[in-house]
Amino acid sequence: MKTYSTIRGMLTALGASAAIASASACTTPSKVGSGPAVANTTKAAIPHVCVDRVLPSHMQEGAKVTASTENSRNKPPPGSSSITAMRYKKWLPGRTLHVRFLEGDPGVVGHVKKVAAEWMTYADITLVFDDASNSEIRVAFQQGGSWSNIGTDAKQVDASEATMNYGWLDSETPDDEYSRVVLHEFGHALGFVHEHQNPINEIQWNKEVVYAYYAGEPNKWDRATVDRNIFARYATAETQYTRFDPTSIMEYPIPKEHTLNGFSVGWNKVLSPMDKCYASSVAYPKAGAQPCPP
Ligand SMILES: [Zn+2]
Repeated sequence: MKTYSTIRGMLTALGASAAIASASACTTPSKVGSGPAVANTTKAAIPHVCVDRVLPSHMQEGAKVTASTENSRNKPPPGSSSITAMRYKKWLPGRTLHVRFLEGDPGVVGHVKKVAAEWMTYADITLVFDDASNSEIRVAFQQGGSWSNIGTDAKQVDASEATMNYGWLDSETPDDEYSRVVLHEFGHALGFVHEHQNPINEIQWNKEVVYAYYAGEPNKWDRATVDRNIFARYATAETQYTRFDPTSIMEYPIPKEHTLNGFSVGWNKVLSPMDKCYASSVAYPKAGAQPCPP
């Protein structure tokens, strides 16, 4: 297993081509089901940070209707931005979600299933890996990067196309990397968003350093993209919203150079206590679950 002395070292070692970077994390793909434009890239060229999918703007109103039809709690505050609307994509608690693998080495597929199933310990959701033709979650491995649609947005994607992708998992991938990536992407599939955009986050960003960092390889983001993917926070009307959790599986790594007070976040590889309690007592309540601590 490789080791990296710094997050920057790992990001650099796992660096991406400009072609990937220009279409990477949380930007809007040009085609709903196509994912980021990453043709002709190798696994070594794929950035090993999550690449989220956001529906094109013309589909977002329809996605809101889909979300509220699925689960009446999916009600963004009036006048919410599209960023905030992403917080309200949860499935109906108690739901069965079918999962179909569109491709993949049987060993890798088996590993993904095993890791993803951990969410069922906490969330009142049943994942059924039956490759049903009408599966809500459809997993691919051949496209670039790792990404997933957020919660009920998957229903907007054509049934023939993937809603989730793993760009670098293979038979040589260490177990803790499976844990880090699969729990994160299935977290998105359950409607969970990146933790650093938690409205209560306490991160004191060193913004110019962050802009400069993401302007470089492998991301090549402009300032607006950094604003949207890193600094923008979700508004929330959810009174049960938990405190900022830097240990969340849904958090990006944050080098200490990116903050004004030395705060940093490493590579989170397991569900945090707050991830578990948020899933089991807020998002998908289970009978008898303990409320999250204040
Ligand atoms: Zn992500």
